[in-house]
Amino acid sequence: MTRVAPLFKRLSFSFWATVFVSVVCLTLVGLDVWRSLYARTEQLNEMERQGANLARAMAQQADDTIKAADIALIEMVERIETDGRGAAPLARLQRQMRAQVDNLPQLLGLFVYDRDGRWLANSLGLPVPAYNNADREYFTYHRTHPGRGAHVGRPVVSRATGKWIMPVSRRLNRPDGSFDGVVVAALDIDYFRRFYESFDLGRHGAVALLSNDGVLMLRQPFDATRVGGGMRDSELFRHYASLTGAARVGSASLHSFHDGALRLNSFRPLPHYPLFVTAALSREEMLARWRRDTFTRSVAVLLLAVFIGFFGRRLVAQIARRARAEAELREARDALESANRTLERQAMSDGLTGLANRRHFDVSLSNEFSRATRHQHRLAFIMIDVDYFKQYNDLYGHSAGDEVLRAVSRLIRALTPKRPGDLTARYGGEEIGILLPNTDLRGAQVVAERIRDAVEALRLPHEGSPFGRVTLSAGVAAMTPQRGVHLTGTLVEAADKALYAAKSAGRNRVTLAAP
Ligand code: GH3
Ligand code: MG
Ligand code: MG
Repeated sequence: MTRVAPLFKRLSFSFWATVFVSVVCLTLVGLDVWRSLYARTEQLNEMERQGANLARAMAQQADDTIKAADIALIEMVERIETDGRGAAPLARLQRQMRAQVDNLPQLLGLFVYDRDGRWLANSLGLPVPAYNNADREYFTYHRTHPGRGAHVGRPVVSRATGKWIMPVSRRLNRPDGSFDGVVVAALDIDYFRRFYESFDLGRHGAVALLSNDGVLMLRQPFDATRVGGGMRDSELFRHYASLTGAARVGSASLHSFHDGALRLNSFRPLPHYPLFVTAALSREEMLARWRRDTFTRSVAVLLLAVFIGFFGRRLVAQIARRARAEAELREARDALESANRTLERQAMSDGLTGLANRRHFDVSLSNEFSRATRHQHRLAFIMIDVDYFKQYNDLYGHSAGDEVLRAVSRLIRALTPKRPGDLTARYGGEEIGILLPNTDLRGAQVVAERIRDAVEALRLPHEGSPFGRVTLSAGVAAMTPQRGVHLTGTLVEAADKALYAAKSAGRNRVTLAAP
């Protein structure tokens, strides 16, 4: 603290004000930068959450949609394998198939093919056999795979309806386990599309449903040339295929197979079928809003900082100007006071000798006289006059005379008591008066004698004097002034009279006034 406090005082107010304004501006800008970076991270996190939620909803929907159709297939397999393929069981089966299709909006049709791909039954009520489907991918699959699980096939355009369908199929077996045909559920791709269309993916977002072996089942935005195509070479598929187990629920920034754009892909497998979904949101698009917001706010904050900086500077400059003006004013006042004091001193003192002047003496005499009257004290006065001074001037010149006056004055000042009220003044030309309150005649005489003696001892040569040196004479008077009887002039007159007597008696002596 002891070291900091002087530092605080040494540096000016305007320095600290500038520091303050700068700190405010920097803090403002700093906070904004920090906030912007934080908002960016938040935006990206939010985007990841959004993608994950989307993927979860899509996977669930796809799984439920396929499952409902698959349950119908399981029932059909069971019936055909138990009831056989007579006309009556097939007619009953066909009725039941139609009811299922009416029930499930995602289901466009249910079909049964024999081992050669010929139509056995269908929910559409088309004449049998209308088409042969032995060339379809799902047909080949079941003929060559003994597995009894559901197979989700490549999307195709339906021969019966002309619509895009996703075939879900199961294998029919003879009692000996050999291939005996296929049951197929045609799922309406539009059913998925309508669901995907309900998502807000932004302008550059995309969602897709893919099979675990890299076939694109469906993509939104929809592209008929891509649906059913292979995506094994895509960054997305290669990444997903490299994952196993729980890691297949996750996200990664990947370049799109379709347009090359970098997107955040959230993926998730369907719980029951060998498919997975991915929701891809554009980083650029997500950050575009953040960029716009950040830009607008940064401009505002910057303007604010510039505004504060500008006006802060002006304020500081104004305060500094005012402080300077105040300091100048203070200096001027001090100079004036000092000039006043000098003037006062000059007005009260004598220029040549430095003793009090006549005016000062008159005031002091009046004051001391009143005080002595009030308190009934003695007041003494010594009147000193240099002897043969006219001759001295004539002989040695006026300025040499001045020098003598100065020397005598110095000596008198040194020898005069300095109690309060004592005063040595230049009374007239070469006359010096000494006022001594609380002093009797004897006391004043001692002072006068000492002065006279000292001046004589100076041995200042004076050819015009019979003493051969500068000497002085003094008249001493003292009194206890009585109210209504004495005037201030009384004391001076008495001393003057005594001085005259000293001169008459031969000079270079001290004479006491008659009491
Ligand atoms: P005395 O012994 O009777 O006092 O003779 P004196 O010549 O000193 O007579 P007086 O006291 O009347 O003389 C006053 C002279 O002192 C007049 C003047 O020439 C001189 N004098 C007065 N004031 C000054 C001064 O300021 N400087 C100088 N150099 N001389 C002064
Ligand atoms: Mg004189
Ligand atoms: Mg004289």
